[in-house]
Amino acid sequence: MADVLVKDGHVITMDSQRRILERGSVAIEGGKITAVGKDVEERADTVIDARGKVVLPGLINAHTHLSMTLLRGVVDDMPLMEWLETIWPIEKNLTAQDCYLGALLGCLEMIKSGTTCFADQYFFMEDVARAVEEAGLRAVLSRGIIELDDPKRRETTITEGERFVKTCHGMANGRILTMFGPHAAYTCSPECLMRVKELAKKYTVGVHTHIAETQEEVDKIIKKYGKRPVEHLDSINFLGPEVLAAHCIWLTEREIAVIQKQGVKPVHNPVSNMKTASGVAPVPEMLAAGIPVSLGTDGAASNNSLDMFSEMKFAALLSKAHKLDPIALPAQVVLEMATINGAIALGLQDKIGSLEVGKKADIVMVDMKKPHLAPLHNVISHLVYSAVGGDVDTVVVDGKVLMRERGVLTLDEVKVLEETQKAADDLLARREAAK
Ligand SMILES: [Zn+2]
Repeated sequence: MADVLVKDGHVITMDSQRRILERGSVAIEGGKITAVGKDVEERADTVIDARGKVVLPGLINAHTHLSMTLLRGVVDDMPLMEWLETIWPIEKNLTAQDCYLGALLGCLEMIKSGTTCFADQYFFMEDVARAVEEAGLRAVLSRGIIELDDPKRRETTITEGERFVKTCHGMANGRILTMFGPHAAYTCSPECLMRVKELAKKYTVGVHTHIAETQEEVDKIIKKYGKRPVEHLDSINFLGPEVLAAHCIWLTEREIAVIQKQGVKPVHNPVSNMKTASGVAPVPEMLAAGIPVSLGTDGAASNNSLDMFSEMKFAALLSKAHKLDPIALPAQVVLEMATINGAIALGLQDKIGSLEVGKKADIVMVDMKKPHLAPLHNVISHLVYSAVGGDVDTVVVDGKVLMRERGVLTLDEVKVLEETQKAADDLLARREAAK
């Protein structure tokens, strides 16, 4: 007998055949999917009626900085470098408790908008991991490693990054995995990056970084190393299939070829890139080269939301407007970026990203009985162009129901909102006091 049966929904499998089953069901047992199909006659402890709802793999946010929810709306309308230089002094005052609370708020927002797995890079990651464990989500977490010409800072952040990998990789029944998180080539020296690369190899984990986000970054790297960012990282043998690379905006054709050859996994963050006016990533070109580009929101201080539904819509629209081509990035491809490509980017394609027998039961349901989702002709079109995170009705991760009919079962929503407001107020008061 199954633990959970999701019954008679519009099931979007995202498997290799990209099947869409009208009145399809998904059976779950022991945290895994045991059946997907039209005639699943299973008995189950919990039966979830999915009539009028779309059932799809949980969305994967492949690049964020979760605890930055505390800084949502604090610094807007600035170029990226100026924005970073304004954010960094505030971040200096962040405590472990702040990061824990910010992460809880981020988890709550993600559950309520249908994200079941995310990749994060920030500080106090043991505390972030604790929040993820409580929330019930799946995550690949990394401690940000940042040097900024300070060898002492390099050592502390690398040591903390290594300790985090050692203590938290595989926790929460394997829902929490880890990576090393060197911030970027302009904030980490080649020595730092190579140390990280060796450590990642030693622990068989990935490396989460930012590449070619702004023109200013490209100029900085050319001035310092005589090469463009991807060329520079390739020349020091940093690149490889384990590298998760946020942004990848300022790339030449040659650099796209290097990314493809080295198996680097770029993450597109259209909203953050538009908001900081950093540029437009060559997503159609990368996809055409066979690169599995995934999708992320970046932190809530530069987005300012973690809603992967709006991220999908912006991804599709941005590439179309940029290329003056309405077929530059179709809805189906965008949904792949937010599901199966996210799984590939995190090295989890055997576990998540599609609804298939044997995979982990990470499933979301979207309630389609809404004026803005009617009439129903093309489900994929509605998910990408019409739906918002608030239409997500039910969320299951690792076979466990985290939200049902919009009620979050793992976190106390009112308490999280109250506590994070207080933490954010205190954090900004400390910044004012330090001025
Ligand atoms: Zn980022």
